Amino acid sequence: MKFHVMTLFPEMIEQGMRTSITGRAIDAGLISMHTVNIRDYARNKHHKVDDYPYGGGAGMLMQAEPVYLAWEDICRGTETDPRVIYLTPQGSVFNQKLAKELAEEKELILLCGHYEGIDERVLEEIVTDPVSIGDYVLTGGELPAMVLMDCISRLVPGVLSNGESAGTESFEGNLLEYPQYTRPEEYHGKTVPEVLLSGHHANIEKWRREQALIRTLERRPDLLEKADLSAEDKKILEKRIDL
Ligand code: SAM
Repeated sequence: MKFHVMTLFPEMIEQGMRTSITGRAIDAGLISMHTVNIRDYARNKHHKVDDYPYGGGAGMLMQAEPVYLAWEDICRGTETDPRVIYLTPQGSVFNQKLAKELAEEKELILLCGHYEGIDERVLEEIVTDPVSIGDYVLTGGELPAMVLMDCISRLVPGVLSNGESAGTESFEGNLLEYPQYTRPEEYHGKTVPEVLLSGHHANIEKWRREQALIRTLERRPDLLEKADLSAEDKKILEKRIDL
C-alpha cells in the first residue's frame, strides 16, 4: 500500500506515521508514504495558498490551483489511477468496512484541508471519496488522514506481528471485543475470570462470545442490528435484557 498525502503540514504526518507500528511497517517496506506539501505548488512569491471566500463569511479558504497542481504531479508518478480521499466533516463517516475496502487498493491519495476548507471547484474535479472521521470539526485534515492510514495499514498483511489480532477485534461481525486481562492474576483485589485460567479452549471461546455480546448490548446496541447472531447468541442477549 502506498499513501500519497497532500497537506500543508507534511512534518505532522511524517512524525505521526513514522512512530511505532506504522513506522516499523514503513521501514520494512510493507507500506510506503509520500507526503506532498501543497504550498510548494503555490505560484506566488510568498507561497500563499489561501484567500477570502466569495460572498464573505469567516475564515480563509485553500485555493484550487495549488491543490490541483499537487494532485497532477502525484498522478504523473503513479501506476494506477488512485482514489482521492478528501478528509472532510462533510464526508461519509469512516468505519472498519470502508477501511477493509480501501486496504485492497494499491495506492491512495489523501487530501487534507485546513482553514475553512478548500475551493469546491477543485474538489469536484479530483475527489472520488469525501470521508469524515466523525461528527465534529477539527482544525485540519492531518489527524483524520493519520487515522485512516493507521487503520488501513494494520489490515495490510504482515503489518501486525500476530496475524490473528486484526480478525478478532471490535467491529468484526459487528460486535465489540470481549474484555481482556494480563498478568498479574490479582490486581487491586480483582481476579482474572476463572475460565481464562482453565486452559479449556471451548469454554474460553464460549465465555468470550458471551462477553462480546453483552458488551455490545451495553455499549453499542446499534451494532447488534447488523450482527450475525446465532440462536444461542440471541438467547444470551434476551436473558441479559430480562435482567
Ligand atoms: N468549513 C468546513 C465545514 O464546515 O465543513 C470545516 C473546515 S475544517 C475547520 C478544516 C479542515 O479540517 C477540513 O477541510 C478537513 O480537511 C478537516 N476536518 C475537520 N473535521 C474533520 C472531520 N470530522 N473529518 C475529516 N476531516 C476533518
